[in-house]
Amino acid sequence: MADKSNTDPQRMEKIVSLCKRRGFIYQAGELYGGLNGCWDYGPLGAELKRNLKDYWWRRTVQERDDVVGMDGAILTMQQVLVASGHVGGFSDPMVDCKTCKGRFRADNIAGLACPEKPSCSVGESPKCELTEAREFNLMFKTKVGASADESDPNATAYLRPETAQSIFVQYKNVLDSSRVKLPFGIAQVGKSFRNEINPRNYTFRSREFEQMEIEYFCHPKDGMRLTDEWLETRLKFYEEIGIPRTKLHILDVPDGERAFYSKKTYDIEYEFPFGIQELEGVAYRTDYDLGVHQKGSGRPLEYFDEETKEKFLPHVVEPSAGCDRTVLALICEAYDEEVLKDEKGKEDVRTVLRFTPRMAPIKVGIFPLLKKNEEQVRIAREIQKKLQPWMTVFYDDSGAVGRRYRRQDEVGTPYGVTIDFETLGEGGDELKNTVTLRHRDSMEQERIAIDALLPWLLERVR
Ligand code: ATP
Repeated sequence: MADKSNTDPQRMEKIVSLCKRRGFIYQAGELYGGLNGCWDYGPLGAELKRNLKDYWWRRTVQERDDVVGMDGAILTMQQVLVASGHVGGFSDPMVDCKTCKGRFRADNIAGLACPEKPSCSVGESPKCELTEAREFNLMFKTKVGASADESDPNATAYLRPETAQSIFVQYKNVLDSSRVKLPFGIAQVGKSFRNEINPRNYTFRSREFEQMEIEYFCHPKDGMRLTDEWLETRLKFYEEIGIPRTKLHILDVPDGERAFYSKKTYDIEYEFPFGIQELEGVAYRTDYDLGVHQKGSGRPLEYFDEETKEKFLPHVVEPSAGCDRTVLALICEAYDEEVLKDEKGKEDVRTVLRFTPRMAPIKVGIFPLLKKNEEQVRIAREIQKKLQPWMTVFYDDSGAVGRRYRRQDEVGTPYGVTIDFETLGEGGDELKNTVTLRHRDSMEQERIAIDALLPWLLERVR
């Protein structure tokens, strides 16, 4: 539940407006009025999201010996989700209001504005007339095949509500085909779908979203310890992408509030402008998942330890992060308005997204000082071509260079490179073939040789 004590709706409004104006996030189907709970990422949002997913994959799969990746189907067999408990129980309590005809998630109405009287929360106005809560299943159901019969249970499939289930179902195949040994993890990044009763807080609660999940299989004796270790690993990851620990809160989910099979669950929460809310769950799920799929499929899923000759069902620790929520946290964390004074003392507000360079959608802006100067343009284009295979760059030759810097500040580009008269040798031989390198955060400028640019940048943007 969000902590509303320290919210900043104005800041959130500015962030939402910048995201649309500069091409980070648009409402899906906006041209036709919009599809509630669905979002499209524009050119810069797509880059940002890709950087996050790529870095997560690199740190979680590529740089570890004990985690392998997979990419499962989104359409999921009914049997899988019956066994996992989703068909029977993946629901939220829902209430209707007989007055306004609205439908609300019963455990989440605090702070949700009443459609008839927005100054009140749902249920608080004397006119509100809420029904008893009833369970609403959050899964999107569909039929597979052209001749699918409505009553044929084998033709029923669901859009997956989490990426985890395909990992459990393929656990044995991965084990048999990739020579992994306990403890090991299977990681996946991909879309999940939940028909949320009240999508809200921008992209935070969406109906279509992406998850970054790890199912880490282990011996039962190691489950608790590994849950704590994964919590630390995940906290470190957030620091590496620019979300400081001071803005993260760890909720040790108490008994009675955890899923019945979970022995320990930590929620990692972030201070969003709309309250402190969950970014990721790190849950010790015991052998629940493999147990239900072993039973549901009738196929053995036990692990045989060659050394100890022990046969057992592995336990699972699951760090499950939301990609869209993390993108939103990155934008909220990066957003800054800095008051600057010019030489005459006139105040000006600079909007900057202070992304850590490895997350920034564009790494370098490339600016020929004068677009009419053919030599400057030629060198600028050459630098662009040299950097492009390695990182995203943005070439901009229109308007005063100060304005061009500001446009890049607003989308979080950490470095700017300006090709000027010194580059051409007009300031003496010493500066020939050097460019101005401008830092987004400090606005400081230094000179760097064109040849040194690529290694200098690569060290900082990866
Ligand atoms: P919540 O309590 O916020 O509904 P949850 O505890 O149901 O979330 P999980 O099932 O643990 O979430 O999913 C793991 C992660 O997936 C969450 O921590 C979150 O980052 C992300 N996630 C879940 N539901 C959504 C959603 N509707 N929109 C965006 N991200 C989501």
